[in-house]
Amino acid sequence: MLYTSTRGISGLVPSAAAIKKGLAADGGLYVPINLPRFSLSDLEKMCSFSYLHLASEILGLFLTDFSHRELEDALEAAYTKEKFGDEPVPIHMINNKLAIMELWHGPTCAFKDIALQLLPHLLTLSAKKTGENSEIVILVATSGDTGKAALEGFKNVPGTRIVVFYPNDGVSDVQKRQMITTDGDNVKVIAVDGNFDDCQRGVKEIFNDEQFAKDLRDKGFVLSSANSINWGRLVPQIVYYFKAYSYLVETQNIEFGEKVNFVVPTGNFGDILAGFYAKCMGLPVNKLICASNSNNVLTDFIQKGIYDRKRNFYKTISPSMDILVSSNLERLLYYLTKSDPDKVAEYMDELNDSGKYTVNNVEARKLKEHFYASWADENKTKEQIQLMYMVNNYIVDPHTAVALSVLNNYQRDNPKDNFVNVVLSTASVFKFSGAAFGALENDATIADSVEIMNKLSEKIKVKVPKRLSGVTEKPILHSDVVKYEDMRSAVKGFLGV
Ligand SMILES: *Cc1c(COP(=O)(O)O)cnc(C)c1O
Repeated sequence: MLYTSTRGISGLVPSAAAIKKGLAADGGLYVPINLPRFSLSDLEKMCSFSYLHLASEILGLFLTDFSHRELEDALEAAYTKEKFGDEPVPIHMINNKLAIMELWHGPTCAFKDIALQLLPHLLTLSAKKTGENSEIVILVATSGDTGKAALEGFKNVPGTRIVVFYPNDGVSDVQKRQMITTDGDNVKVIAVDGNFDDCQRGVKEIFNDEQFAKDLRDKGFVLSSANSINWGRLVPQIVYYFKAYSYLVETQNIEFGEKVNFVVPTGNFGDILAGFYAKCMGLPVNKLICASNSNNVLTDFIQKGIYDRKRNFYKTISPSMDILVSSNLERLLYYLTKSDPDKVAEYMDELNDSGKYTVNNVEARKLKEHFYASWADENKTKEQIQLMYMVNNYIVDPHTAVALSVLNNYQRDNPKDNFVNVVLSTASVFKFSGAAFGALENDATIADSVEIMNKLSEKIKVKVPKRLSGVTEKPILHSDVVKYEDMRSAVKGFLGV
């Protein structure tokens, strides 16, 4: 399988090169040139596969320059019992029409673990296959969750180093603790005197600094990113859509061949795009339901065909969805335009120049054929946390609550729809204890802290996962604080160049 850039200028490359590069040289994202499709009989067989078995089948179709042995080894190293428990992605049935797919049983209790535990293995294999001898240095700017998930994924992976920058006053107490207590001899966590934008700008400048890249290369290092635009982060996410479907068949909640809806709390459009790939590969999906918070740029796009990022930015209680430019949407545009890279490039230029673009009628219709979109404000989100707890004795985090609230809108707009709905649950509630506790107590949102995690735990009588409760006992291993101007020298200092 070969990969092309969504903007069409960079040439075709095998998957290892696409994963190693992350972003194509023309600024586009790598997409497979054609989509594999399962026959119904293949799909039916797959319904009895374990998670790892399913993953190796699906990854094998996309990463054809990797051997089966390589993929299986990578999968086994990523999804161990110690990291994920017996079942990497358990499904909780609320009733026979509503399933919650819990994507947060990994090391940092958030769904990004699923991709970020596997990516380091795919990346080191890709480096080897492309003849790269340098050590890979991952740079991450984080507003919280991604940083820790990347640290856990890359720590102690031979041939890699990771440097994470976070805003000194921009992450919660628990998030900070999680990061600065990370062990592993290839990791570095650094606070930046400034906000998240400063961190991100600093990291981007380092990536664009050719002299810096050359200095590093001379010393045997090459920079790379664990960003969600990397194909190696997207492809592992396709697997769990198939897993959910198999589960529903196995447990006889649906008959094989019956369609289901997936409801996805969306930010950068990676998670839901993986669902779109699953649908294109033949998984019986009715609608992909795109759920946004008050930053509802995607709702407008899917409803009207107009992407307009010129709008207020809201800081919400579902912060991982506080995004106005969803980078993975570019991949969807590629398919909407029937693989027309010139058109994609045009839309992206418009977005860059004027902050806005409008797809044509055919594309807008296609968008609505596959997707439904709606959004939930802060009150609706809190209401949903309360409601799920009171009615079903099941507690969800604010991101999952946004999805549940949007599912209500979907059902209101489509009263005859009788498909089973699978809601993707993206974080353990204990990662967002302040918002959840505030919602349950009908109180304002409280800052996340270990104390509030414990209070929430007492209230709902669910134990705090050890990985989160243990952060206060672990020693602090990273205490550097740097100014924005000094981020480069901090990286060099860590690498000893
Ligand atoms: C990253 C994230 C999302 C959004 O996923 P995208 O792939 O960016 O759309 C939703 N919820 C949580 C908890 C996340 O960390």
